[in-house]
Parts: sequence; C-alpha cells; structure tokens
Amino acid sequence: MARVFNFNPGPAVLPDPVLERARDELMDFRGTGMSVAELSHRGKPYMAVAEAAEARVRELAQVPDNYRVLFLQGGASLQFAAVPLNLAEAGQRAGYINTGSWSTKAIKEAQAFCDVQVLATSEATNFDRAPEQATWAACDDAAFVHFTPNETIGGVEFHWVPDVAAPLVADMSSNILSRPIDVSRYGLIYAGAQKNIGISGLTLVIVRDDLLGRARAATPSVMNYALQAGSDSMLNTPATFAWYVAGLVFDWLHVEGGVEAIAARNRLKADKLYGAIDGSNFYSNPARPSDRSLMNVPFTLADAERDADFLKGAEAAGLAGLKGHRSVGGMRASIYNAMPEAGIDALIEYMREFERAAA
Ligand code: PMP
Repeated sequence: MARVFNFNPGPAVLPDPVLERARDELMDFRGTGMSVAELSHRGKPYMAVAEAAEARVRELAQVPDNYRVLFLQGGASLQFAAVPLNLAEAGQRAGYINTGSWSTKAIKEAQAFCDVQVLATSEATNFDRAPEQATWAACDDAAFVHFTPNETIGGVEFHWVPDVAAPLVADMSSNILSRPIDVSRYGLIYAGAQKNIGISGLTLVIVRDDLLGRARAATPSVMNYALQAGSDSMLNTPATFAWYVAGLVFDWLHVEGGVEAIAARNRLKADKLYGAIDGSNFYSNPARPSDRSLMNVPFTLADAERDADFLKGAEAAGLAGLKGHRSVGGMRASIYNAMPEAGIDALIEYMREFERAAA
C-alpha cells in the first residue's frame, strides 16, 4: 500500500494516526461489539464521543463559555442560508465582504433572506486581496457582517480580524484550527469539516449565546441554532461518524501541540512553497503577497499549455490533487494541517525538476 501526498482542497488529507485509529476501532468500538457508525447517538458510548470532541475543540480554539459549539449537517453551504435566517429579520440589512468564489456564493444565497450590502469587494483586482478595512463602506444598521477569512479557490486569506460594530460572521471552512484565533472577536464562526476538521457531512458552528433565539419563525428546525443548541446538536440524528472523526482529528492536533504549534508548521510550509514559486520565472501565484493563503496555494505555469503534463507527472510522482479549481484553471496545492512538511518538499522538488526539463 502506498499513500500519496494528497493536495486535494476538500475532502482532503487526514493525519495517518487518525486513519489508523479509526481502522483499529472500526469493528469493535471500545468494547461495544459494534462500530461507532452503528451506535445509537443517544447511548452512553456515543455521547462520550460527542462530548469529548466538543471539549477538545473548545480547548484547542479557546472557545469562551458564552459560546455554543454545534455539530451540524448540510455543509458550509447550508450556513449561507442559516446565518441570515437566524441573525437577520426578513429585509434587514447585512454587510458582506466579497473576496472571491465562496463569498460570492454566500452573498447570492443570503440575498433571498436579507438585504445584502456589499461593503467591500476585490473584484476589480480579480479577487487577489483582502480589502483593507479603511476601504469598506460603513453599515451601521447591519444585523451582522459576513466575510470569508480564507478563499479556498483564490488562495486569499485575511491575516487580520475586521473590527465591526455588528456581530462578525466568518466562513472559516478552509482555515479553521490552522492558527490561534480570538473567538471573542466573532459573533459566529462556521466551517465545513472536510478540510481541517475531518470528513464531509459535518459542519462546525461556534455561536455566541446572545445571538441564539433570534431565528425568524419560518426557519427550518434543523437550521435553528437555538433549537440545535438546546438539544446538543441532536435535534435529529447527527452525522455520527463524521463527528467521531472530528474528535480523532482534534485529539491528534492536541498531541501535535495544539493550534500554536500547527500554525508555526503551517507558516513554514507555506513560506517554503511561496519561496519556490517566487524564486522562479516559471511559476507564479496571483494573490497579493500580504494576503496569501497559508492553506491553499494556487499557481500557474508561464506556459499554460504545459498544465496537463505538469499534472500527469505530478500524479506519477505521488503528488495528487494539484489541479486548480475548474473556474480558474492552473494548479492549486491545498496544504492543510495534515499535510506534512515532507509533502511540500516533494512538491518543490518536482516543480524544480519539471522546470528544468521544460527549459
Ligand atoms: N466556504 C468555503 C470557504 C469553502 O471552501 C467551501 C467548500 N470548498 C464551502 C464554503 C462550501 O462547503 P460545503 O461543500 O461544505 O457546503
């Protein structure tokens, strides 16, 4: 069996120790005689799994006591609708920052549920940056302000936290737990699990207590944060296996030294890769250097005709998932927490060889 270096954007690479533990526990979960996927979500053995995962992520992200952590379904995309349904009245204003594909999708969805005001957009520069707050329009009466701290497709990341009067809502799908965050700066954080948390099917929501209970009457129950919080995310059957895997990933992160340690590693990995790109005339990255993502690194070849050859050679060298998103083309290396530094080294070595051979 040969594991490749997996640069997929999500579902994405998982830590080997997580997969090994899931394998070892699969047939007989901790003496229950059944797999964790066969357990009742309301029984004691599973409740222990659910509670441990929540405790661990609270510890990792230093979640204050006045925030609830929810383990929901529907992906980050369902949150595009759940956020306005829960936090804004029909027709009420909400501020959105548009930094690329994912914020554009969040905006489109929200337009059905509230009065979206785009306070800033980097569209004029082809979504290459996180617009400085000084350039944002004011929106004093906004029910909330939504932004996407890491654009998974464009490879643009906010390395600062906006300061707004309204509750700040962040789609952290592709950079949650990649570095320390001050949760108290946010009203609500959400993230699909399939990048830094585990496998698809689970969405993490961290929401401040005072934002619960405002959902409009027509909000479907499973999308209602207050109802989900009131039933510990078990209003209906949760994504039990994905929740379990999230717990394993959180435990792994704890053993690795937590988010501070992983942040240092992520910085080192990204610096190496951007260094290799910047050090050549053959590869380039489109993002403004100050706003480059540490998680998703898109890059293009000077000659796009060679893209297919590059990808074919990469696969042969055990480097998978490097094809850029279909909307932008080129290449993209997603280098989440679980991507080892050895994967970056192997990618850089392959890039250098490919460039030499192309010369
Ligand atoms: N937001 C961001 C930043 C994403 O990267 C993604 C998925 N790649 C989504 C939202 C959508 O997530 P999901 O597929 O879980 O709905």
